[in-house]
Amino acid sequence: MSIRFDDQVAIVTGAGGGLGRAYALELARRGAKVVVNDLGGEADGTGRSDAAAAVVAEIVAAGGEAMANGGSVADPEQMAAMVDHARERWGGVHILINNAGVLRDKSFAKMTTDDFEFVVRVHLLGSAFVTKACWDLFRAQNYGRVLMTSSSSGLFGNFGQANYGAAKLGIAGLTRTLAIEGAKHDIRVNTIAPTAGTRMTEGLFPADLFDLFAPEKIVPAALFLVSGDAPTNQIVGAGAGVVQSAHITLTPGVALHGDSLSPEGVAAAWDRITDRTAKIVPASGAEQAMLIGRMLMERGAPS
Ligand code: NAD
Repeated sequence: MSIRFDDQVAIVTGAGGGLGRAYALELARRGAKVVVNDLGGEADGTGRSDAAAAVVAEIVAAGGEAMANGGSVADPEQMAAMVDHARERWGGVHILINNAGVLRDKSFAKMTTDDFEFVVRVHLLGSAFVTKACWDLFRAQNYGRVLMTSSSSGLFGNFGQANYGAAKLGIAGLTRTLAIEGAKHDIRVNTIAPTAGTRMTEGLFPADLFDLFAPEKIVPAALFLVSGDAPTNQIVGAGAGVVQSAHITLTPGVALHGDSLSPEGVAAAWDRITDRTAKIVPASGAEQAMLIGRMLMERGAPS
């Protein structure tokens, strides 16, 4: 076992069940001290239970070290207190897995603004709040590994999940900028887009596929992405042992000018504008502007 987390402290949010529990158990098995955060709600965020304490008991029974936290990721003060507590007890925090999540699926026509806001708050703002609570510490340590949790629903869309999809692509966007800002302090930030049989996907997955898509099959990709040698700024798909790399790509585009720089010109050039043959993956937003500049220079002086 060469990837280990001895002397490291990991926080896993939403770790009272499903994917978070699987991450927490394996992090602890590989030597990390783990904060198991979960308020123990139902899939839609209602209700409370001591799910986090049950996972801590499993870790301790297996010889590991863990503490439970029943705070909500949607509450920045509770999250700041959680990070302070971990730092006071164990001297630092090195790994954060933002995994907590809820669902309130409905077609956009039927979705209330409250359901939209609630889901965005837990997933997107929750990921930002917990990461913010760790950020100064990561910078001071010159070390931090953050794994966010996106979804194919955010990256590619899914009927009935406008709230969830908006939050999940927002999380990928948060990843991009934090990876850039964290680089000089060796803070690496990645996103996983899992596909797993959990209570969140009950009813969506045929029961006989649950074993094939067990949460444990996501764990290898997740743990690599928070290891010392992790890459940064990656969006990684994982499910049933298949590991993928997702990208937001850009076509070279077409430089329009004069009469062609008109709605009609865009319509006429649409096939070339959307031709993905020579697509690229910009490493930052600035790169898109640089590519535009390069294209204009190749074409000659802009008019
Ligand atoms: P899950 O419901 O088993 O796990 C989510 C956990 O988050 C629950 O234990 C829940 O109590 C906890 N939680 C909810 N709100 C919280 C809050 N405010 N504060 C703290 N904890 C809270 O489902 P899962 O499938 O294990 O989901 C884990 C993550 O993976 C989620 O972010 C989910 O959106 C994402 N995801 C899952 C799949 C999949 O196929 N299972 C696909 C794409 C994304």
